[in-house]
Amino acid sequence: MVLILLPIVVGVVAFLAWRNRAVRGCRWRENNSGNQGALRKYCCAACGAEAFTSTKGPPDMCKRGLGNSSL
Ligand SMILES: [Zn+2]
Repeated sequence: MVLILLPIVVGVVAFLAWRNRAVRGCRWRENNSGNQGALRKYCCAACGAEAFTSTKGPPDMCKRGLGNSSL
Protein backbone atom coordinates (compact mmCIF):
# COMPACT_ATOMS: atom_id res chain seq x y z
CA MET A 1 0.00 0.00 0.00
CA VAL A 2 2.82 2.33 0.86
CA LEU A 3 4.50 1.58 -2.45
CA ILE A 4 1.36 2.69 -4.24
CA LEU A 5 0.94 5.91 -2.27
CA LEU A 6 4.57 6.97 -2.42
CA PRO A 7 4.64 8.07 -6.12
CA ILE A 8 1.36 9.95 -5.60
CA VAL A 9 2.69 11.83 -2.58
CA VAL A 10 5.93 12.65 -4.35
CA GLY A 11 3.99 13.86 -7.37
CA VAL A 12 1.73 16.10 -5.30
CA VAL A 13 4.69 17.60 -3.43
CA ALA A 14 6.55 18.20 -6.68
CA PHE A 15 3.49 19.83 -8.20
CA LEU A 16 2.98 22.13 -5.20
CA ALA A 17 6.65 23.11 -5.22
CA TRP A 18 6.52 23.82 -8.95
CA ARG A 19 3.31 25.86 -8.65
CA ASN A 20 4.63 27.84 -5.70
CA ARG A 21 7.81 28.70 -7.57
CA ALA A 22 5.84 29.65 -10.67
CA VAL A 23 3.78 32.11 -8.65
CA ARG A 24 6.63 33.68 -6.75
CA GLY A 25 9.37 33.61 -9.32
CA CYS A 26 9.79 35.95 -12.23
CA ARG A 27 10.75 35.02 -15.72
CA TRP A 28 13.23 37.72 -16.60
CA ARG A 29 13.86 38.58 -20.20
CA GLU A 30 16.78 40.78 -21.10
CA ASN A 31 15.72 43.96 -22.85
CA ASN A 32 18.73 45.35 -24.66
CA SER A 33 16.88 48.39 -25.95
CA GLY A 34 16.40 49.66 -22.39
CA ASN A 35 20.00 49.42 -21.27
CA GLN A 36 21.37 52.44 -19.49
CA GLY A 37 25.13 52.42 -19.46
CA ALA A 38 26.39 49.51 -17.41
CA LEU A 39 22.90 48.70 -16.23
CA ARG A 40 21.06 46.03 -18.13
CA LYS A 41 17.31 46.16 -18.27
CA TYR A 42 15.24 43.08 -17.59
CA CYS A 43 11.51 42.69 -18.05
CA CYS A 44 9.53 40.07 -16.17
CA ALA A 45 7.35 37.99 -18.44
CA ALA A 46 5.33 36.74 -15.48
CA CYS A 47 4.21 39.97 -13.81
CA GLY A 48 5.48 42.69 -16.15
CA ALA A 49 7.96 44.17 -13.68
CA GLU A 50 11.04 45.98 -14.94
CA ALA A 51 14.40 45.92 -13.21
CA PHE A 52 17.94 47.07 -13.87
CA THR A 53 20.95 45.07 -12.84
CA SER A 54 24.66 45.63 -13.13
CA THR A 55 25.56 42.08 -12.24
CA LYS A 56 25.66 39.11 -14.53
CA GLY A 57 22.31 37.43 -14.90
CA PRO A 58 18.77 38.51 -14.21
CA PRO A 59 17.48 39.76 -10.84
CA ASP A 60 16.69 36.98 -8.39
CA MET A 61 13.54 38.44 -6.92
CA CYS A 62 10.26 39.85 -8.13
CA LYS A 63 9.85 43.60 -8.07
CA ARG A 64 6.10 43.44 -8.34
CA GLY A 65 5.29 44.24 -4.70
CA LEU A 66 7.86 47.01 -4.29
CA GLY A 67 5.77 49.83 -5.72
CA ASN A 68 2.51 48.80 -4.13
CA SER A 69 3.12 49.14 -0.42
CA SER A 70 4.14 52.42 1.12
CA LEU A 71 6.57 51.64 3.91
ZN1 LIG B 1 7.67 39.20 -11.73
